[in-house]
Amino acid sequence: LAAEAPATHRVQDRSIDSTADASAPAGQGGFRNAPDTDPSLPANQAWAAGIRERAKDSRLGVDAVEAATLRDADALETVIETGIAANEGWRSLSGDERAEILHRAGRELEARRGELMEVAASEAGKTLDQSDPEVSEAIDFAHYYAERARDLDRIDGAVAVPSRLIAVTPPWNFPIAIPAGSTLAALASGASVIIKPARATARTGATMVEALWAAGVPKDVLQLVQLGERSLGDQLIGDPRVDRVILTGGFETAQAFRRIRADLNLLAETSGKNAIIVMPSADFDLAARDIVASAFGHAGQKCSAASLAILVGQAGTSKRLHNQIVDGVRSLETGYPWHATSQMGPVVAPAEGKLLDGLTKLGPGESWIVKPEQLDDSGKLWSPGLRAGVQRGSEYHLTEYFGPILGIMRVDTLEEAIALVNEVDYGLTSGIHSLDPDEIGRWLETIQAGNLYVNRGITGAIVQRQPFGGWKRSVVGPTTKAGGPSYLMPLVDWVSAEARE
Ligand code: GLU
Repeated sequence: LAAEAPATHRVQDRSIDSTADASAPAGQGGFRNAPDTDPSLPANQAWAAGIRERAKDSRLGVDAVEAATLRDADALETVIETGIAANEGWRSLSGDERAEILHRAGRELEARRGELMEVAASEAGKTLDQSDPEVSEAIDFAHYYAERARDLDRIDGAVAVPSRLIAVTPPWNFPIAIPAGSTLAALASGASVIIKPARATARTGATMVEALWAAGVPKDVLQLVQLGERSLGDQLIGDPRVDRVILTGGFETAQAFRRIRADLNLLAETSGKNAIIVMPSADFDLAARDIVASAFGHAGQKCSAASLAILVGQAGTSKRLHNQIVDGVRSLETGYPWHATSQMGPVVAPAEGKLLDGLTKLGPGESWIVKPEQLDDSGKLWSPGLRAGVQRGSEYHLTEYFGPILGIMRVDTLEEAIALVNEVDYGLTSGIHSLDPDEIGRWLETIQAGNLYVNRGITGAIVQRQPFGGWKRSVVGPTTKAGGPSYLMPLVDWVSAEARE
């Protein structure tokens, strides 16, 4: 099979060109979200089967990662100097000129959709239903930030002065969309970029970067690195010539970056401990479906994932809702992404530490409704877990586990449920299922989270429609949202137009 040419990938049965209007000027409604692949079409099924087949032994990106590995401080110094020298040309392009290149990047990413999904399955265990929307999101970032690059030239009374060098340190859980989004934003703002993809998904990051190079982003403006030693990471973050760092990762990592350099200009999207509240007025069928999808998509390894379901009043005693959640969790087929039947993939590395505790240990008053089982000796493949009796103020209530575990809490009133959510230090995503506008209004007014979802799952933010970003300890630095209109603003320095004249 590997020798055969991949089957043609057709995005939709309709004649959609996802980039047709994308270069229309901002404000004219030109941007459209890229459509995901329609899995019902036979051509797409053959295409997906080819990806799964290749994913198992994929070697995509290996050479790029080897070439990008820095062995010593001198090599890092060269990378920093190269990025700064190359920035002269890049920053002097107009927003329009950078926009053209970014739109091409969007088309290159679309052309490599299958490759990106293959390498993400191979490295991160991402099932194709999860990676396909991730590619769409990366494409969206390219077209959306292209238009925001034009905006930077149009702010009345102020001139945007680009950073010379931005370091991008993305996570492994969204190995396509997050590296792409952070990099494309930095490039759109006029900066040179040094990207260091997470070690676990280095080849996926490299494959994304290759798409941007193919689109015409100069290799000196966008440099890919892997670090042979940990100390080189500290050196990169600590270097005063790095104007800004864009991080997506744990709150502790953001704090560690700040310890390396107190005056670091850091933009970080950090941890979450997210809940979906279900009210007695809710459509329970919908709520159960959304809870299971939000908790176990990509094995729960999303900052946005639901790890608490808070059932209020009669919702907490409803046998039907309870059974729907339990049946939904029990029915999830766990397996590697190269098996077509897998609905939930493995965790990215053998479970240890906090995640292993979450999969194996219970707190006071808790019990397993569905107990996680280790399904092979890799340490990565775990069936999903559902725990009951989570107590207010407990370890499970307040901390992030980043894996396939959902806990259930029960309370009598909406106000109690909101208090449970707001007691958590983080505030990334939050959801409510209710058909009562008054309840929804009370929740919207008091809930402390950056992304709020009503009668919908709480993962899968969409560029432009639902920009993504947190509150409280889910963000470090400016609270601008990825995929939103102001994301580029804190990446540049602003000076008054008069001062520039
Ligand atoms: N943007 C993703 C979502 O809405 C989450 C990103 C993350 O996990 O950092 O699901």
